[in-house]
Amino acid sequence: MHITFWGVRGFIPVPGAQSVRYGGNTICVGIECDDGTRLALDAGTGLSVWGRKLLGTDLGKGKGEFNLVITHSHYDHVQGFSFFIPALIPGNKIRVFGMDETNLSAEDILESQMTPIFSPMQTLKNFGSIITYPQLSSSGTEPVGSMELSLIDVPHATSRALAVKMKAEGGTVVYAPDVVYENAPSCERLINFYRGADVLIHDSTSTVHYNDILSSDFSNDYHDAVTVAGKAGVKRLFLIHYHQEMTDDNLDSLLEDARTYAREQGYLDLHISLAQEGYTLSL
Ligand SMILES: [Zn+2]
Repeated sequence: MHITFWGVRGFIPVPGAQSVRYGGNTICVGIECDDGTRLALDAGTGLSVWGRKLLGTDLGKGKGEFNLVITHSHYDHVQGFSFFIPALIPGNKIRVFGMDETNLSAEDILESQMTPIFSPMQTLKNFGSIITYPQLSSSGTEPVGSMELSLIDVPHATSRALAVKMKAEGGTVVYAPDVVYENAPSCERLINFYRGADVLIHDSTSTVHYNDILSSDFSNDYHDAVTVAGKAGVKRLFLIHYHQEMTDDNLDSLLEDARTYAREQGYLDLHISLAQEGYTLSL
């Protein structure tokens, strides 16, 4: 299983000199298996970058298959889909997964941003590919090629989002962007979902420096990420979904702070990294 970070930002894209090292696209993580299975986690502007790279594959010829999970409908998780070229090419098959319990219909989320008010595409019907919207339940798993996919709903601001678990050759990966820990039972439920993961890709939007901008019930910082990763016994933690005001230098400091906090908490075996646009980790 190969994990590539195509977009690592929350909220809005941040091009420019202060984001050249970690990247400026909004969130999208690519999962690829050796049997050719492809899955995108969220459709921020990073998805359009991956889409252009995929034009050299079967997806460029209208003979490819692609899978996508949209964890929730905020701008930073959906805006890349309009410009994901493989979805425009007739013959391609795109599956967009949602979950029953969240009342989040992936089709409604995508269609609502394709109206002429927001998009030149006007409607999903103008996309040439065959797009389907399988619904999963939180108690079930779905085979996606050689992967086993499962979802869980998580608290996020005034609404809900999803976290995603993928099991495949090489190990287990959990993706948890935009997650807030409301109380101990809610936290325990999610730690159980993360348990046993080889890699946890986790929200790290705010820092102690930005708590005056972002209220703590809106998104969380590295303290939560380190704590849940440590309690769940995951091997490797990637922080992601950075606030737009976090420069590359700020992010260097964030990594140091997170590693220091992990040591202080006794999580000495937890390997912590920052998601960096264009970086691929192979399990
Ligand atoms: Zn977000």
